[in-house]
Amino acid sequence: MANSFADSPRQAEPPPVLDGDFAVFSGKPAFAKPLHVGRPNIGDRTRLLERLNGILDSRWVTNAGCYVRQFEAAIAEQIGVRHCIAMCNATVALEILIRAAGLRGEVIVPSFTFIATAHALQWQEITPVFADIDPATHTLDPARVEAMITPRTTGIIGVHLWGRGCNVEGLQEVATRHGLKLLFDAAHAFGCSHRGRMIGSFGEAEVFSFHGTKFLNSGEGGAVVTKSDEIAARIRLMKNFGFAGEDRVVYLGTNGKMNEFSAALGLTNLECMEQFVAVNRAHYERYRRELAALPGIALVDYDAREKGNYQYVVLEIDAGRAGISRNSLLRLLRAENVLARRYFYPGCHRMQPYRSYFPHAGLLLPHTEALCERVLLLPTGTALRDEDVSVVCRLVRAAVREGPGLERRLASHPVRPPA
Ligand SMILES: *Cc1c(COP(=O)(O)O)cnc(C)c1O
Repeated sequence: MANSFADSPRQAEPPPVLDGDFAVFSGKPAFAKPLHVGRPNIGDRTRLLERLNGILDSRWVTNAGCYVRQFEAAIAEQIGVRHCIAMCNATVALEILIRAAGLRGEVIVPSFTFIATAHALQWQEITPVFADIDPATHTLDPARVEAMITPRTTGIIGVHLWGRGCNVEGLQEVATRHGLKLLFDAAHAFGCSHRGRMIGSFGEAEVFSFHGTKFLNSGEGGAVVTKSDEIAARIRLMKNFGFAGEDRVVYLGTNGKMNEFSAALGLTNLECMEQFVAVNRAHYERYRRELAALPGIALVDYDAREKGNYQYVVLEIDAGRAGISRNSLLRLLRAENVLARRYFYPGCHRMQPYRSYFPHAGLLLPHTEALCERVLLLPTGTALRDEDVSVVCRLVRAAVREGPGLERRLASHPVRPPA
């Protein structure tokens, strides 16, 4: 399908891919301008500008404005939950939810996630305890979660990584058996379903991110969605300094409000969401076709029976079989201006402050550590043209074809400092 959201052509057709050597050695980069992972999906500009003008005309820029309320209502309806509370970002939304749900002591989380999942706990002196993942799904393994429970444990935060639902049933079973609260970091999973039910409706509450890199963006933004009236009421107070009315503060609070400009962008993008999915899915399927049957290169797949946002194109590279390592492939691609990413290398447990607090955490995280060495994310999204995807695939195929020879050449080729 034609992607009407893509930027204007970057270069003359056909692209000059590999009509010489790889750019890392001396060739011309395949792309004149960088291709990023997670460039924002932007919806209808005319609609957006109308809304922005509306904000300026009304001089109502924040505090329960009409766009925030519309955005919240649209999300709650789409997910099928009673409450959606929009916030300034998902990290603050997680922090507030964790406090509103009464978590303390220790909370079990994956290490294979964005650092904010752990930081949102540690920020309020709750200890994130890292449990290993199932290598087949990249999400928390309920048996490993159960093994990490101590008398101080009060909750579990699962992460629906890449927009694929985690083992919700297994985690709920462990949580119920041990009297723990179950929350989800659904930062990747807006518009995705799990066993036919929309993600956002599981556990006590879930958190979406609307950061610019996420499938649905409001620039910066996030939301808590929940069916619990009690949690929703507490979060509404907490995200607005604890104000229950003019001059009346009933709670310890902070400022987690979403502003009207963000909500206008979020609402506009939400209206174009089906088109974003279609573009993402077409890119994903093109990657799948054009990288099929490459030894040692597996593309993380999405269950076609579920709703998905197809926001992430994730390769798992088995260096032994592919003949080229993940890091070498990354080096080659970056020189071609394909800015692939190693999410979530090296794992939260190897980042500070956790690496100082728990220097031996890796011993209990073998699957996390192995996966951190294998994963590579490729650019996708509405900023890419279909033919850009094909060029990236050609580069990957060439790298695998020449794998061992390339590894030898790279080993003796000096790494240039970034420009
Ligand atoms: C992006 C992300 C967050 C943080 O979202 P922000 O809106 O940027 O604060 C949290 N968890 C995961 C898994 C993420 O990918």
